[in-house]
Amino acid sequence: MNKKRFILKTALLSAFTAAVYFPASLATTMLLYQRKDPDIEVYVQENLEQIIQEQEKTLGITYPTDRPTIYYTLPEEYKIVGMLGLYRGGEDSMYLPSGILTNPESDFSDFMATIATFNNTYNVKRSVDHELAHFYCDKVKELVFQNRSPHFYFTDEELVSQLLVNEGIAEYVENKMNGEDEKPFSFQDWPSNLSQFRNKEIYQGGYAIVKPIIDQHGEKGIQFLLFNPPTLYELFTPEKYQERMLTSIAQLPEKTEPLFLPFRIQ
Ligand SMILES: [Zn+2]
Repeated sequence: MNKKRFILKTALLSAFTAAVYFPASLATTMLLYQRKDPDIEVYVQENLEQIIQEQEKTLGITYPTDRPTIYYTLPEEYKIVGMLGLYRGGEDSMYLPSGILTNPESDFSDFMATIATFNNTYNVKRSVDHELAHFYCDKVKELVFQNRSPHFYFTDEELVSQLLVNEGIAEYVENKMNGEDEKPFSFQDWPSNLSQFRNKEIYQGGYAIVKPIIDQHGEKGIQFLLFNPPTLYELFTPEKYQERMLTSIAQLPEKTEPLFLPFRIQ
C-alpha cells in the first residue's frame, strides 16, 4: 500500500471525527514516536552505503564523501503524527522516527505496529531515500555558495517555491528508488493563492513538477531546479515553470559541468 505523508495527516484529522474508532491507534502512534527501534538503527547502519550507491547508479548523481549524522527519534518539537523524517541542513543531520518506521525485510513486531497504528507506519528505506535527497541538495548548495549562502527565504511565496522544488526532488528520489512511477498529477485544481498550498500540492505536486525535468536531465536537472525555483507567477502556473526549465536547460552548453550552472537564468 502506498502510504503518503498527506494520508497520515488525513488519518489524524479523521481521529477527531471518528473518535470511537481511532483513539487506540492514535495513542499507539504517539507512543511509537517516543520509541527508538534498535532494529531500524541496525538496518540503516548496515544499508546506508548501499542505498547511496543505488541512488548514484540509478539517478546518475554523485554524493559528497561525507555522510549525514543520523538520529533515530525526531527532535521533541517535531514528534507530530505524519512526520516521517527530518533533515536539518545546518548540522547535516537526518532524524528518523524509528519507532514508526518499518524494516523492508519486515519482522513481526513491525507488522503488529502497522496494524496497531492503523497504517501510520512507513518503510524506513523510503524515508532514508527521501532524507538523503535533502542531504544531497543541501551539499550541492553548500558547495556552490561556499558557506556564503544567501538567504533563500525572503517571503512566504519564496518559501513555498523552495519547498516545492526541494520536496519535489526528494519525492522524486524516494519514488524512483522504490520502483514507483506515479501517474501524472493533474494541475487542474492547482492553487490560485498561497493559502491553498497543502501537503498534497507540495509533495505530490512538487514531484509532478520536477519529474519531467529530472527524467530528461538527471543530475543537471536537479541542480538547475535547486537554483531556479518557480517565480511568483510560475508558482501558480506550474506548467509554465516546467516549460521554462526544460527550455533553459536545453540551452545550456552541452558540456556544462553539473555543479557550475549559473544560479539563475532570467
Ligand atoms: Zn522532505
